[in-house]
Amino acid sequence: GATIGILGGGQLGRMLSVAAARLGFRCHIYEPGANPPAADVAHAVTTAPYDDAAALTAFAEAVDVITYEFENIPTAALDLLEAQRPIRPNRRALAVSQDRISEKDFLSGLGLATAPYRAVTDAAELDAALEAIGTPAILKTTRLGYDGKGQARIDAPQDAAAALAAMNGAAAVLEGFVDFSHEVSVIAARGLTGEVAAYDPGENVHRSGILHTTTVPARLTPAQRSDAVLLAARILNDLDYVGVMGVELFVTPAGLIVNEIAPRVHNSGHWTQNGCAVDQFEQHIRAVAGWPLGDGARHSDVVMTNLIGDDIEQVPQLAREPMTALHLYGKAAARPGRKMAHVNRITGPAPR
Ligand code: ATP
Ligand code: MG
Ligand code: MG
Repeated sequence: GATIGILGGGQLGRMLSVAAARLGFRCHIYEPGANPPAADVAHAVTTAPYDDAAALTAFAEAVDVITYEFENIPTAALDLLEAQRPIRPNRRALAVSQDRISEKDFLSGLGLATAPYRAVTDAAELDAALEAIGTPAILKTTRLGYDGKGQARIDAPQDAAAALAAMNGAAAVLEGFVDFSHEVSVIAARGLTGEVAAYDPGENVHRSGILHTTTVPARLTPAQRSDAVLLAARILNDLDYVGVMGVELFVTPAGLIVNEIAPRVHNSGHWTQNGCAVDQFEQHIRAVAGWPLGDGARHSDVVMTNLIGDDIEQVPQLAREPMTALHLYGKAAARPGRKMAHVNRITGPAPR
């Protein structure tokens, strides 16, 4: 069997490795941190930093194709890897999504709606951006943010200095606050030969900036549903994308607004493990391995709930619930804000 190399050994790498094993592949994880969740289930693990050229070269030689479970991989490491093996999804998808400004430039270039935005590197630029965009607004670091980290809300101009200080000197982007009714995401896949498949959009609720629940079906009109899927397909096609992508959307009376894209399997797609014949992890492995995409039609209504930090203590009770599937990541220490597990509650059959 072929070997799939995965950059990153977190829970996404772990669930990708399980899906790959089911299809007869081996996974080799590359992860700088010790004891990554994926190590329990992968065939091989390289523990080395992203500037270790020898380790990167040996990793590339040991695998047939390289994919990733997070987007913040240093460019030099990617250059080295790409010289030896294909990287799927491709470098452009990574470059676009690593930086919130290039991401929004790309999306608006496709004619898609985003929040109004302006690059901000100092107090004068922040004043000008606030003048142009108004309040409320959100200042975000352009790179490396996740789970709402590196963000500061600006409700009035006098909040500006504190927000800028919260960026710790990093380049930032000011976004106008979108007055959305709810948030949804589309998990979509594109195969090596260009076919596109999308899962039903899920409705997402966040708590303290971290995804709390995803519910399918989402509250969307048929027109909004097809808009969501079609815009995701445009993004994948334009990027010549291979693999699974998560597209986060704000639902507003004026239409769908793209919040951000993630060039990988996505937390808001975990419901597919118990709602579809072929889940997002298998779909991603199929795509990067050059297989035909699987059937992602939803057979069940599902509510996915993340277990964060101490929530993991609920597992004994959850294990007694009917129609409930538990997915634990095997992490030893439950720190506050740490994603420990998720639970998929099947709430009924999907209407046919
Ligand atoms: P993720 O973990 O999804 O990568 P992130 O740190 O990249 O999160 P965002 O998705 O940009 O953060 O923002 C987190 C949440 O904050 C959004 O899901 C949304 O609820 C809210 N939010 C972000 N930007 C805006 C905006 N411009 N207007 C209104 N709400 C916003
Ligand atoms: Mg993000
Ligand atoms: Mg987000």
